[in-house]
Amino acid sequence: MPLDARVATSLAEAAGLLAADQRIRLLAGGTLVMRDVNEGRLLDGTLLRVTDPAFRQMNTSGARIELGAGVTMAMVMNNRDLAYLHAAARAVGGPAIRHMATVGGNLFAATPYGDFAVALLALDALVMVQSGYGSPRPIALEEFLNARERGVSGLVTSVQFARPQNAGDFRFAKVSRVKPKGLSVMSIAAHLPNSGGRISQPRVAYGAMAPAPVRARGVERALEGKSLDMAGIQAAKAAALEGTRPATDAIATEWYRREVLPVHLGRLLTGDGR
Ligand SMILES: Cc1cc2nc3c(=O)[nH]c(=O)nc-3n(C[C@H](O)[C@H](O)[C@H](O)COP(=O)(O)OP(=O)(O)OC[C@H]3O[C@@H](n4cnc5c(N)ncnc54)[C@H](O)[C@@H]3O)c2cc1C
Repeated sequence: MPLDARVATSLAEAAGLLAADQRIRLLAGGTLVMRDVNEGRLLDGTLLRVTDPAFRQMNTSGARIELGAGVTMAMVMNNRDLAYLHAAARAVGGPAIRHMATVGGNLFAATPYGDFAVALLALDALVMVQSGYGSPRPIALEEFLNARERGVSGLVTSVQFARPQNAGDFRFAKVSRVKPKGLSVMSIAAHLPNSGGRISQPRVAYGAMAPAPVRARGVERALEGKSLDMAGIQAAKAAALEGTRPATDAIATEWYRREVLPVHLGRLLTGDGR
């Protein structure tokens, strides 16, 4: 049977259709799906578009942020309330890709893609997933990414997270060989809330250092209660590799990724990460 296309006018309809037939695949920005089609990996089934405006809605002014899964990287970059996320959105491909690539699609993008997901992981984001005609249920992004290797079903309707109290508490860096739009040697995101100069409940995440974006729990432990001074940064760098499982691919070897991670983490923490 050839590939065909359908349109769902509501999120509930889209989730219902996805639940009813495993051969239906959501077409969000299509930057990855259409590559599968064009390169012959996806030859039959149904591509499903969602036209519900809620899919591309953003609530960005309050303390709790919600981004519809269909929001594009370009939409994030055009939103001043989301300035702390601009570097992460800018890290995704070139301008043409960013006008199509969605927040939801980035959660499914295989390593070394998934740069925006790394930022969301450091923001402790919740993924709203709707399976069938029920209501969307929240899943911690970390759990969602762990489950991804086993195959995630359902429609991602949005992501939610708490706005960083100070934009400067949030940092993101992508390391790539080709500027400005090469693939990730790695990406690092850090949310470093502090009280009286001491870091409290930091969240640090890596991209391309494991099969999916991962939290850097050793770094988080090392930074808890510390200042971002030489000693604090050295402690974080010493714990940088904990929990990492980088791959060797066309961009970098596993060895190289391990070698340079502490250096780039140190730069990010000193405020020199780019
Ligand atoms: C040339 C090029 C350069 C790229 N560079 C980068 C880069 O630098 N960094 C990076 O992170 N990525 C990069 N990508 C990968 C990709 O563009 C992004 O990861 C993008 O965010 C994927 O989103 P999309 O909307 O295009 O996904 P799609 O292609 O529409 O979908 C991807 C997969 O996710 C599923 N899906 C999408 N949205 C949902 C949803 N809401 N609910 C359930 N399933 C869903 C689809 O069914 C499909 O299986 C690049 C891609 C290309 C082609």
